[in-house]
Amino acid sequence: MTKTIALVVAAGRGSRFGAERPKQYTLLAGLPLLRHSLLRLSCHPEIDAVRVVIQPDDQADYEMAAAGLSLLTPVPGGATRQASVRLGLESLVSLQPDRVLIHDAARPFPSSQIISRLVAALDEWPGAIPALPVVDTLKRAQPDGLLQQGPDRSHLVRAQTPQAFSFGAILKAHRSLQSSDETDDAAVAEKAGVSVVTVSGEEENFKVTTADDLRRAENLATGFREFRTGLGYDVHAFSEGDFVTLCGVRIPHDRSLQGHSDADVGLHALTDALLGCIAAGDIGQHFPPSDPRWQGADSAEFLRHAAGLVTQAGGQVRHADITLICERPKIGPYRDAMRARIAELLDLDPGGVNIKATTTEGLGFTGRREGVAAQAVATVAFLT
Ligand code: MG
Repeated sequence: MTKTIALVVAAGRGSRFGAERPKQYTLLAGLPLLRHSLLRLSCHPEIDAVRVVIQPDDQADYEMAAAGLSLLTPVPGGATRQASVRLGLESLVSLQPDRVLIHDAARPFPSSQIISRLVAALDEWPGAIPALPVVDTLKRAQPDGLLQQGPDRSHLVRAQTPQAFSFGAILKAHRSLQSSDETDDAAVAEKAGVSVVTVSGEEENFKVTTADDLRRAENLATGFREFRTGLGYDVHAFSEGDFVTLCGVRIPHDRSLQGHSDADVGLHALTDALLGCIAAGDIGQHFPPSDPRWQGADSAEFLRHAAGLVTQAGGQVRHADITLICERPKIGPYRDAMRARIAELLDLDPGGVNIKATTTEGLGFTGRREGVAAQAVATVAFLT
């Protein structure tokens, strides 16, 4: 099995757009700029692990950008970009990757297709970078602004990141060229005699450098959103007892709900709805009733697990709507507490959570007060 690791360079101080935070942590569509590329890299099926090179001063900002994602521990960078990459590469030696994709945090939109093209190119070459043709005519201007004859643009390309390399080749190149200060890794590779091929880059994979770039990125990021909806349904029967747990709230009652866990039908239905949004099966597959670990479990744990999977899949839970179906207990007095608890578990504004209750007019098993049913619908936004 080939092991491919993505190394994201986020140690620069960069331009700050007048904000307090370094550029890579500036908010873009509500998420730190760095998080956009981390989501894309960490969700890609051909990337096994992601490590970020940071400035130790930025630890708190980094943690916000990386929250909920499954990443390797970040490592501190050096004085220049090239030094930061070298330190990042050295930190990966013990993990023995075959390939590495080196990416600049300032490019928030490396597409899944670019990553696949790079990985495929490494089957034949020790290095590959995404590149675009130069479409504008290039001119050479004198200091006074007067034009001289321009260079021939026909062989010029614009280099982007991620830049992909055989790990051994790029590590050796960086070790042998420590005194130089190149602006990208392809230049380090070329100087060390490593062949680098180009694959098609994409205009959307641009580098955010100016305030104009940030506005363009903001427009793109909002346009990239895709919404998915998941549905959940659950039933538990009443048994002897004196309380029930519904939507994470304990309610005194003359019966209890029977189940392997705490039998919280509301949270079970919602957990299934979240799993539905990421096509991850159902709650029984993730928490088999046959597993003694879930005996009497707090269903909040199931919901948190599903929410964690949503985050790892690049999603953001936006809304949850739950209907509890029973004659008793009365749900109304507990509705606000339920909303608050679910909002807390999903890290959502309570305005994004709705609890409804209905009876079935005495009909069916809920009407006969044999149990409680729940339906849930969840909406998740994805950066595509
Ligand atoms: Mg259940």
